Amino acid sequence: MTANHTPTDETDNTNTTHVTCRICPTCAANALADGMTICRQCMRAYARQLTLLRHHLAVLQLVIRREVHLRERGGGRGSFAPLGIDVSAADLEAEVERLIDGICEAAGLPGGRWQRALPRLGANLRVLACLPDAADHLEGLIRLNGRLERVADRRPRLRRLVGVCDVCGAMVHAVQGEEWAVCGRCDSLLHLPSVRRAARRRLDVLHTTQTPSGAAVWVSRETGIDVTRDDVNNWIRSGRITAPKLENGYREFPILRLIELAEVKMDSKQE
Ligand SMILES: [Zn+2]
Ligand SMILES: [Zn+2]
Repeated sequence: MTANHTPTDETDNTNTTHVTCRICPTCAANALADGMTICRQCMRAYARQLTLLRHHLAVLQLVIRREVHLRERGGGRGSFAPLGIDVSAADLEAEVERLIDGICEAAGLPGGRWQRALPRLGANLRVLACLPDAADHLEGLIRLNGRLERVADRRPRLRRLVGVCDVCGAMVHAVQGEEWAVCGRCDSLLHLPSVRRAARRRLDVLHTTQTPSGAAVWVSRETGIDVTRDDVNNWIRSGRITAPKLENGYREFPILRLIELAEVKMDSKQE
C-alpha cells in the first residue's frame, strides 16, 4: 500500500442527501470525516508520529553533542561510526525543522525550534488533519522518524518478516506493533496492516535456499519462534515440507510453509 493513491469518490445512493464519501489517501482503508483530508485513525497515527519525533529529537541532541555515538548501520555489536559523522545528525535535525516549519506555516501556527513547535502541533491535530497536504505531512513525518530511528533508537529491536512490498516485491521487515515502514528497495511508504493482510498470498511464491540448520535459524529469526535443525529435518522426513535438494546439503525451502510449520510448533506447545 503506497500513500499516493488518489481518493476515490463514492456516492451513497441510499442517502437522499447524497453525501459524498471519500477514502483516506494515506491508508486507503477508511472514509474521510467531514472537512478532514486524512481519516481519524491516521490522525491518531499522526499524533503518535509527533510524539515519536519528540523522543527521537531529544536523543538526537545527545548525538549532536557527541554524548552518545551513532551506531554504524549494519555494524556488529559495539561498533561505532567514525568521528565526524555527527554532522549528519545535525543535518537531519535541520531537515526535521524544515518539515515542522512547513506544517506550522500551512496550519497558520508560529514555527521556531522544535521544542516549542512540536507541542503546538500536537495540540492542533484536528487543524492538521484538515490541511490539503495532511497526507504528505504525515508521510514526511513517518519517513523522517524511520531515518531518525536508526540514529536515535538505542535499544536494538528485532525486526520480523511481515510481508512483501506490493510495489516492488521486496520482503518487508518491521518491529512488532509498528504501523508503517519504508521499503528498503523501492522506498515506497507501506501501511503495515495492509501488508500483513496480503502477506500469505504474496509469500506463497517465495523460496529460500538454506541448509536445514540454516532454515531453522532463518525461520526462528523471522517468526521469533524457536525452531531447531531437528524440527526442520523432521518436517522434511515426514513430508510436511517439500524442499528440493540442491548441492552441498542446501535445499530450496518454500518460505510460507516454513513459517506455517513454525507456527504449528508454537501452537502445539501452548496447548
Ligand atoms: Zn487513513
Ligand atoms: Zn518496495
